[in-house]
Amino acid sequence: MAHVEKKSLHGFFLITSFKSAAVRGVFLRKVIMGNKQILNNYGSFDVTFVKGQGSRLYDVNGKEYVDFLAGIAVNCLGHNYKPLVDAICDQASKQIHICNYFTSDVGNEYAEKLLKTTGFEGVFFGNSGAEANECAVKLARKFGYLNGGAKRKTIVTLKHSFHGRPLTTLTATGQDKFHPECFGPYVEGFKYLEPNNWDALKTAFDDTTAAVMFEPVQCEGGVLPLDREWALACAKAARDAGAIVICDEVQTGMGRCGSLLCSDLYGVNPEVVTLAKAIAGGIPMGACMYRGKGNVFAAGDHQSTFGGNPLACRAALVVLDKLTQDGFMKEVNEKGDYIRNTVKSWNLPVVKDVRGLGLVVGIQVSVNPVEVEKECLSKGLLFSTAGDDVLRFVPPLNISMEDIDLGLKILKSVLETK
Ligand SMILES: *Cc1c(COP(=O)(O)O)cnc(C)c1O
Repeated sequence: MAHVEKKSLHGFFLITSFKSAAVRGVFLRKVIMGNKQILNNYGSFDVTFVKGQGSRLYDVNGKEYVDFLAGIAVNCLGHNYKPLVDAICDQASKQIHICNYFTSDVGNEYAEKLLKTTGFEGVFFGNSGAEANECAVKLARKFGYLNGGAKRKTIVTLKHSFHGRPLTTLTATGQDKFHPECFGPYVEGFKYLEPNNWDALKTAFDDTTAAVMFEPVQCEGGVLPLDREWALACAKAARDAGAIVICDEVQTGMGRCGSLLCSDLYGVNPEVVTLAKAIAGGIPMGACMYRGKGNVFAAGDHQSTFGGNPLACRAALVVLDKLTQDGFMKEVNEKGDYIRNTVKSWNLPVVKDVRGLGLVVGIQVSVNPVEVEKECLSKGLLFSTAGDDVLRFVPPLNISMEDIDLGLKILKSVLETK
């Protein structure tokens, strides 16, 4: 008899052990045909992937896809990148996890390298972008408390922003569609500012403001780069009011925009930067880095069980080494410009705008972007949409020119029919 243990919890379905091949067959078919048991909130594409190689992906039917999505800007070195796979396997045989009462050799090595490379003084490691941002919010609250008492607690974020799904970061997200009544009450102490609006800056900050938090490029919001002068003025106005500046670089960071940190391109010099997505090439990890006035945490202020475990740090070391290699960022910029210039050169009426920085590319279209996304998927090109009307490309940073051309060919063939 097969021993199958089911735990049904809000649509989750776990089989902890099964002895019969028949049961295993059913389970595999379920997975392969699209698993209805995994909480599906992501819109359903009927594609199930089995493996990847570089910037190509393969589904259960052996069909090949060019990957302009990279797991939403996560797989920055593509799939099956040998140095990363080797490092993960080697680390797994040494220590995967230890608790944070202790430090690990790779954890120490990674923290030191990351801080030295980016110019920060301290870092908290978590497991996701939301956790990194939650840390930044707590840090800002403590900074406010130490520098103005209980009244200096407000965190100003931008409209069209995205900061994560748990309630604090969801509240920080400046888009009404993310705040349905059913999930309320939301977290107190957030205010939203219209990006690139100079008038709004005049009254945005006062002695109740602890921090301003923004993404240098609003990726989820529609690949909207902040105006550089405005971003600098915003940071200055916040500091003049006694607040600190947090950059959410969960998506823009780790080389995505053609510089290890996008805030360096802007010259914002934030007190706090959050990272995640690409930081460990696909192993879950997040980081909240702080310096100067943002260096307010004391031991015990914030913790995480899994955060920064040796496996994640070892993977992150491989990523950081590659991203800081001579000439790598230059190539990221060249590839991004190549994609943008090529799409512009088609002069297609359906394309309203082509924008972005480095290898985050936004193509604003006058048709339903999800239709374009679906048609491209069926022809073997993977990407996602952002905002209301934007195709977003965030391919692996080491994607080859050959794969870029192949993807663009598919895109063109679909856009031409619109
Ligand atoms: C993806 C993203 C997050 C959330 O990251 P998770 O790892 O999904 O929690 C936060 N901020 C930005 C800018 C992001 O792009």
